[in-house]
Amino acid sequence: MNKTAIISSDTSINHLTGDGHPEQPKRVLAITERLKKNKNLIWDKPATFDHNILKKTHDEDYINMVQKSFPSEGMKFLDGDTVISPGSKDATIDAVGSVIKAIDGVEQKKFKNAFCPVRPPGHHSEKDKAMGFCIYNNCAVSAHYLIEKFNYKRVAIWDPDVHQGNGHQNIFWDNKNVLYLSTHQYPFYPGTGSEKEKGNHNNIFNVPLPAGTTSEEYLNAHDRVLNKLVEFKPEFLLISMGFDMHKDDPLAQFELSSKDFYEITRRTLLATKKFTNGKVVSVLEGGYDLNALAESANEHVNALQEF
Ligand SMILES: [Zn+2]
Repeated sequence: MNKTAIISSDTSINHLTGDGHPEQPKRVLAITERLKKNKNLIWDKPATFDHNILKKTHDEDYINMVQKSFPSEGMKFLDGDTVISPGSKDATIDAVGSVIKAIDGVEQKKFKNAFCPVRPPGHHSEKDKAMGFCIYNNCAVSAHYLIEKFNYKRVAIWDPDVHQGNGHQNIFWDNKNVLYLSTHQYPFYPGTGSEKEKGNHNNIFNVPLPAGTTSEEYLNAHDRVLNKLVEFKPEFLLISMGFDMHKDDPLAQFELSSKDFYEITRRTLLATKKFTNGKVVSVLEGGYDLNALAESANEHVNALQEF
């Protein structure tokens, strides 16, 4: 049992966001088509799950509002850039179900670790707010699932997406069982993520970086993330995996190459393996240049397979 699983759902392509929207159905297709060339992966589908799980992460009123808001035709906006369509109803649930399946699979030793290329993404959605293409915070739900169902005491969420994950910060601000670590372009969308934002238990670790950050500069900053991770000794590592730090990404201004995604993944897994015993689940967040996204995700998965 040393395999990496890919958990994704066909329903993600029915989450329509409108022509020209960067968070488009082709993102997941670009990744899965690229990963299908890799013959050593396990492929799986999302779990069905008790929707009460969502209540650990989101306010009940928010969940009810979301469930009632899916249009029967056309599209609707949950915030300035978060669009939903009829197909979004199943896609949002299957995005969470994919991460649940990934955790169950790791816990049951069906595979070593997993990557979930899901849509919609999650790290901008807060307890009671959809934001920045995100509706349910998939990765945050999975952190609560680890704590509630499997009694984990130290779960780390590493979020290298070029945008700070304000949703994680909002949801875990007062949760000493979760360490949230983010490198991101700053100042930039969504506006949060200064070094002064530390959480109530010193459990939020923000590493803001300027536009134009190069690979070398990024790797130096990443060392700070690794030191903090080692200090925390996570029992399980969740990755809020954005790929929009790539130099070709249209939404941000970092200068990373596809190969860098192999290196940052490898270094993170190497530093944490003695604590996590290799238990890692990675969830897709951003990444908007289809070519760069597919290449970078492939590099990320290559590194996951080595552990
Ligand atoms: Zn992003």
